[in-house]
Amino acid sequence: MANINHHFLKLQSGYLFPEIGRRVAAFAAAHPEKAPHIIRCGIGDVTEPLPQVAIDAMHRAVDDQSRRETFHGYGPEQGYAWLREAIAEVSYRQRGIEVEADEIFVSDGAKCDTGNILDIFAHNNSIAIPDPVYPVYVDTNVMAGNTGCVRPDGSYEGLVYLPCTPENDFVPRIPAQHTDLIYLCFPNNPTGAVATYEQLKEWVDYALANDSILLYDGAYEAFITDEGIPSSIYAVPGARQCAIEFRSFSKQGGFTGVRCGYVVIPKELMGRDAAGNQVSVSSLWKRRTGTKFNGASYIVQRGAAALFTAEGQEQTRALIDYYLGNAALLRSACMSVGLRVWGGVNAPYIWVQTPAGWNSWDFFDKMLREVLVVVTPGAGFGAHGEGFFRISAFNSRSNVEEVCRRIKRLL
Ligand SMILES: *Cc1c(COP(=O)(O)O)cnc(C)c1O
Repeated sequence: MANINHHFLKLQSGYLFPEIGRRVAAFAAAHPEKAPHIIRCGIGDVTEPLPQVAIDAMHRAVDDQSRRETFHGYGPEQGYAWLREAIAEVSYRQRGIEVEADEIFVSDGAKCDTGNILDIFAHNNSIAIPDPVYPVYVDTNVMAGNTGCVRPDGSYEGLVYLPCTPENDFVPRIPAQHTDLIYLCFPNNPTGAVATYEQLKEWVDYALANDSILLYDGAYEAFITDEGIPSSIYAVPGARQCAIEFRSFSKQGGFTGVRCGYVVIPKELMGRDAAGNQVSVSSLWKRRTGTKFNGASYIVQRGAAALFTAEGQEQTRALIDYYLGNAALLRSACMSVGLRVWGGVNAPYIWVQTPAGWNSWDFFDKMLREVLVVVTPGAGFGAHGEGFFRISAFNSRSNVEEVCRRIKRLL
């Protein structure tokens, strides 16, 4: 028998979304008459159709594949230049941020990228991860063998957790100790928190002073409507020397089922080898990508590129405004019954404190049983998520309006 990667055995079995699915299925089986009325605001998947420009571009791209003259086989591993140019121009340069097309690596999504990035880093780095957070950062570090065992509260030995609490408005404080790799995610999943320029600058200054690298997940960047909130870590001077940025078309363009994202690695960004020599991080990622990936599909990249046309920008804005409208309704419904809420302004998630005395899984069960609404228990995102739950604004307007009525009935 072959030996397995034993680090996988440290992973907790009751992963968040399967556990939610199990509880909802059990409830639905026990109450078949109620099952059709359950509204799911739990998983962060989008619900609305893709912008029409993306649909049209992908239809044309399929037709391209039907003729020898326009057929596309293997594409560039880093992504087609026309897509990388569009990203650099519209998402960065037009906003006064310096990013070149050859610093962009197109992929099949940010989940893979945030996990795969660990391939190019050593296993002896100290790693800081916000708590609560998108579970992928922790679990991929467990799989890579970068942690010890799990503790009773679900945290892992060997990681530096950065608590996100009401006291710091869910923006983690700079740690007292040195760390090498720091994950940050703004607008945040699950809390909906955003970081100000000053807060991001503190992190960039810390990373520069400590020779650390920031792994900045900007999957929800397009939801920022507040002019004062930076859309990219590279808005902060010095970030090009210390940050990798991850982005995705999943939430902004409705691409969760289409699959496309990208990583930005500035040329200046350096890591260190065992002998202490500087090594270009971008060259390692390029090597990794060329070996393990053959690029996102031509059809999908055509769809993504269409989002950067003037029409595409308008349609994307409308889609995001729709979800932000949902978020505003959910936020005010929660507030009207006296719940404490965060997020839901520059983000599609509303982070809610459970009423006194309720832990997050018990309150999840109460909402499911009494008003047939599925939320996400905060404890599933980390130990500091206990006592909170997340409501997703990714839903139809009519479902959101019904959820608001039911929340008012609940309390
Ligand atoms: C949804 C999400 C992603 C995007 O994942 P894709 O693989 O691109 O669909 C990345 N990071 C966070 C925090 C997310 O919530």
